[in-house]
Amino acid sequence: MAAAEIDPESLRARVDALPGVERLRSAIAGLGAHLVGGAVRDLLLGERRGDLDVVLEGDAIAVARSLGGELVAHERFGTASVQLDGLTIDLATARAESYPAPGALPVVRPGSLVDDLARRDFTVNAMAVPLEDPVHLVDPHGGAADLAARVLRVLHPGSFADDPTRALRAARYAARLGFALEPETDALLRRADLTTVSPQRVEAELRRLGAEPQAARALELAGDWGLVELDDAMVRVAHDVVALLSAEPWQGVASQPDVILALARGDLASARELASRSPGSPAEAVESAHGHDGPTLALARGVGAEWLDRYVGEWRDVRLEINGSDVLAAGIEEGPAIGRGLRAALRAKLDGEVSGRDQELRAALEAAGAA
Ligand code: ATP
Repeated sequence: MAAAEIDPESLRARVDALPGVERLRSAIAGLGAHLVGGAVRDLLLGERRGDLDVVLEGDAIAVARSLGGELVAHERFGTASVQLDGLTIDLATARAESYPAPGALPVVRPGSLVDDLARRDFTVNAMAVPLEDPVHLVDPHGGAADLAARVLRVLHPGSFADDPTRALRAARYAARLGFALEPETDALLRRADLTTVSPQRVEAELRRLGAEPQAARALELAGDWGLVELDDAMVRVAHDVVALLSAEPWQGVASQPDVILALARGDLASARELASRSPGSPAEAVESAHGHDGPTLALARGVGAEWLDRYVGEWRDVRLEINGSDVLAAGIEEGPAIGRGLRAALRAKLDGEVSGRDQELRAALEAAGAA
C-alpha cells in the first residue's frame, strides 16, 4: 500500500484546487460530505474532470438547493445534480443496497459512507476524501494500491452476478486508463452473464463505452472477454471507423456510440450490402447511398466502400440551381413528370454532363417530356 500512499498535504492541495470547492464547502459544512467515485480516482491520477460526485449522510437535495445554480433533483433516489460555473456537482445521500436477484435492480436504503463505497464497481472507484478537511483518503477496499498497480478489481466475488453491466464498465475503464484486470476479477468477469440484465441497461452501458475516445479499444476488450461477439475484422472496422469519424469529411456524419452499438450487436447487414455495390458514376453513388443513416454509411466505409468518401464529402450535397417551379413555368404540367425531370437533371449534373441553370433546365425538360 505504501507505494500508493498520497501524503496528506498533497491530497489537501489537490482538493483545494478543485473548481467550485469553496462554494461546495460552505453548503456542506458539518454534514460529513465526501468526494467519491471517479472524482477521487481522477484526483489521485491527476486528471481533470468536469464533474464532482459528493456523498453525504444527510439530505442531499436540500444541500443541492442551497448551492444555487441549475438543479435537477431525483426525489426517489435522494440525489441531485447542480450545474455551477460550468461544473456538474452530483450530490447523493449515502446509500446501502442489496440485490434481490442476479442482474435485478438493487434495493436501496439509507446507509453510511462505508456502505456507499461497498456497493461500487471497482476498488479504484470505491474511495472517498472528506471535503471539509481533506487530510486522509477513505479507502476500505485498497483502491489506492490498485490504482498504483493499474488494475481493476471488484470488491467481492458476487459483483458481476449482482450487476453484469460492470463487466462492460471494466472494458470502458481498462481502455481509458490502460488498466489490466486483476486475475481473480478477470476470472469472475468471464462468467458475467449480460442476459440477466434488461437490454436497455446493456445498451445504456454500451453507449457510454461507445462515447469514449478509446471506444474501439474498449469494444475490442469486450470482445476478447466474451461480452460481445466480435471477430478480428469487426475489431479493425471499429478502429477504422472511430478514426474516420474524427476527421473530415466524416466528422459529424454518425454518432460514435451508435456505430459502436451496431458493431457490438453484429448489426452490419445493411452496411455490408451498401459496401457490396460499386457505383459507376457519382449519380449512381448517390442513388445507392441515399436514404442510409449515418452509422450505416460510416460502417460501410469501414468495411471497404471508399467511394463513400466522395459521396459524404461532395456528392450528397449537390443541389440543382433550378426547382419544380422552373420546370412548371417552362410548360410541363404538374405531376410526376416534374420530379422525373428534376431527378434526371440532378443525375446529369452529378455526372458532369450539365452545368448552370440553362443546361439543368434543358436536361429536366428533356426527361420530363420524354415520358
Ligand atoms: P466517468 O469518469 O466515466 O464519469 P465515473 O467513475 O464517474 O466515470 P459513473 O458511471 O459516473 O462513473 O459512476 C459514478 C460512480 O458510481 C463510479 O465511480 C462507481 O463508483 C459507481 N457506479 C456507477 N455504476 C455502477 C455500477 N453499475 N455498479 C457499481 N458502482 C457503480
